[in-house]
Amino acid sequence: MADKVKDPVCGMEIRPEDAVSSVDHEGRTLYFCSHVCHETFVKDPHRYGHPAEEHGGHAGHGGH
Ligand SMILES: [Zn+2]
Repeated sequence: MADKVKDPVCGMEIRPEDAVSSVDHEGRTLYFCSHVCHETFVKDPHRYGHPAEEHGGHAGHGGH
């Protein structure tokens, strides 16, 4: 009964033991359903590194 985690790139819920790969990001471990998602994250980690912000609001993100 492992907790599911969310693939930050595609949003799919997976179990850590089913993850193809994982990465350490700012002290937490993120899991990916595929190597494609992993590579996508690595290319642009700050875009996906906010798993707590799931509701699509842009509060706190100042435009630039
Ligand atoms: Zn994925």
